[in-house]
Amino acid sequence: MAPLDTSPNEPSFRESVDIMFNRAVALMDLSPGLEQKIRVCNATYTVRFGVRLRGDIHTFVGYRSVHSEHMEPVKGGIRYASAVNQDEVEALAALMTYKCALVEAPFGGSKGGLCIDPTEWEEHELELITRRFAYELAKRDLIHPSQNVPAPDMGTGEREMAWIADQYRRMNTTDINAAACVTGKPPHAGGIAGRVEATGRGVQYALQEFFRHPEDVKIAKLSGSLKGKRVIVQGLGNVGYHAAKFLSEEDGALITGIIERDGALHDEAGIDIEAVRAWIIKHGGVAGYPAARHQADGAQLLEQECDILIPAALEGVINLSNADRIKAPLIIEAANGPVTAGADEILRDKGCVIIPDMYANAGGVTVSYFEWVKNLSHIRFGRMQRRAEESRHQLVVDELERLSSDKGLGWELSPGFKEKYLRGAGELELVRSGLDDTMRKAYQDMREVWHARDDVKDLRTAAYLVSIGKVAQSYRAKGL
Ligand code: GLU
Repeated sequence: MAPLDTSPNEPSFRESVDIMFNRAVALMDLSPGLEQKIRVCNATYTVRFGVRLRGDIHTFVGYRSVHSEHMEPVKGGIRYASAVNQDEVEALAALMTYKCALVEAPFGGSKGGLCIDPTEWEEHELELITRRFAYELAKRDLIHPSQNVPAPDMGTGEREMAWIADQYRRMNTTDINAAACVTGKPPHAGGIAGRVEATGRGVQYALQEFFRHPEDVKIAKLSGSLKGKRVIVQGLGNVGYHAAKFLSEEDGALITGIIERDGALHDEAGIDIEAVRAWIIKHGGVAGYPAARHQADGAQLLEQECDILIPAALEGVINLSNADRIKAPLIIEAANGPVTAGADEILRDKGCVIIPDMYANAGGVTVSYFEWVKNLSHIRFGRMQRRAEESRHQLVVDELERLSSDKGLGWELSPGFKEKYLRGAGELELVRSGLDDTMRKAYQDMREVWHARDDVKDLRTAAYLVSIGKVAQSYRAKGL
């Protein structure tokens, strides 16, 4: 996407998170000391390391920030991007604290970043760089199964997590829990089914839950279900792609706009997500995609009429410079921090409903939690339950068939039903149902506060109230 004009009055990302935090905390009864303790970032480690590449030594700058250790390990992704900086990593670490508390993943918040454009390096070079970064962090317990557990974020994925896990294992050969030092690993390297899709899947479950509450849908000046809703998604990376795919394929939503780095696609009749994804992989962008109208100024499509806007890429894309022109009545923040504090206020005044990042994109860390538990328990998810479940289901099928023949009812169970029912839930089904449950429960916690308190006018403030309340509880339990 073309760079956005940002107003000089716009606070930094970290300040923006603090403003939102402060707005919520003003409605709580915390001591100023505890309030301050929760708000601030505990520590940020900066590392500059050299790697010999292409005949020369290249120096890289990386960060790992720990926001809150009210629970350990602390958790959060590692981002690879040229613009990574301390302010950003600290804001993201703070959001991890609130996110984990909201969905009751028992972690503190952390985040890491490496200033690098991954497209500039070959795979074997990226491996050397990643292993060296992992070494620097692991040496200081900033990668550790019980202290600090990274995960993928922008610019990283399963491949980088596998390198990190292997690096940690080499440095800690006797640690039986080494696999739990990082999540988002590929399934063959200790990962869990459904982690790659998890954040996008969580966005879908969040919207499904929102649409289960007609009063909430009405506040967003919408009605009915997700079916036929016009959706614009900004960023067709891992999160945006999965969210758009599931919403269009499974809920009947229409993806009417896609915004990417090199422009945007627009078609009110709906865009085929798989086809666009394949186009991007082949051509490196959306330009030239034949089946929808392309516009070079991608940012403009954020302002197009639609029912649901899904910013799923970078922070700060909806800011003071464009907030008043945003027409979507419902925004779901699939990215971290896509709406700045100033824009949030403008949108709230306009009556736009925002499903906040700390809830909307919590699917990733939720499934990371399942992966971490799986690694520590050293057993595949559902392995023991599955046989038991299958035998119980077999009993029901046998009983139905016996009844039918004894009473001469002539019932016949369809082979499809039998096949589905007899097969106990596998890892992917368990992960999805656990994620769905988490997203439903967290939404209900937020909406209860939203509706019960007259001084809480929006979901973001409600989300902060719930999560800060939980963090404060942990600190109090520790005697702080
Ligand atoms: N990077 C993701 C996030 O921002 C996932 C973090 C994790 O799984 O620990 O939530």
